[in-house]
Amino acid sequence: MALRSRPSAPTDKYMPEILAIYPGSFDPMTNGHLDLIERGCRLFDRLIVAVLTNLEKEPFFTVAERVEMLAAVTNKMENVSVDTFSGLLVDYARFKQAAVILRGVRAFSDYEYELQMALMNRKLEPKVETVFLMPQEEYSYLSSRMVREIFKLGGPVKGLVPPLVEERLHRKLFPQVS
Ligand code: ADP
Repeated sequence: MALRSRPSAPTDKYMPEILAIYPGSFDPMTNGHLDLIERGCRLFDRLIVAVLTNLEKEPFFTVAERVEMLAAVTNKMENVSVDTFSGLLVDYARFKQAAVILRGVRAFSDYEYELQMALMNRKLEPKVETVFLMPQEEYSYLSSRMVREIFKLGGPVKGLVPPLVEERLHRKLFPQVS
């Protein structure tokens, strides 16, 4: 449930609903993404997890598979929905009338790229603010790329991704077993 409450008394100032968009590739979603989603849905009235459809040349999971996993894992979070978008993020944010773009920062290495993106998005659409959240320390080194690489090399991904994603990873590599 979102922390922000609706105005109750006539003297309260009107507080518009705050919709945030959490964009990314989510190939696959990790516990770091989930951590951010849990934080975001407590801060904002509504959160759309938006899977970018037009970047990766050879994705590990299809967009449909990624959306399905995100929707299943966030199923119980009432103010979270999952969508896809292509093209400019600010165009999508404008279309959805979102006030916030949510991004995560892990290590310093994320900072420069994220800063550039946030400033460029602000230039393109000054009405949309980028909000950065930090994950729990244990996820601050975790990325989808790392999960894919560990998994392809036969390493354990338990604790790095939600159980459903772990199961889908196994199914992808060993379809005949499931
Ligand atoms: P992109 O392909 O745009 O980097 P990702 O799917 O990797 O998208 O990530 C989407 C967003 O989630 C980015 O802001 C990224 O920094 C953030 N993120 C990814 N992994 C983590 C993590 N472990 N902790 C916090 N934020 C994360």
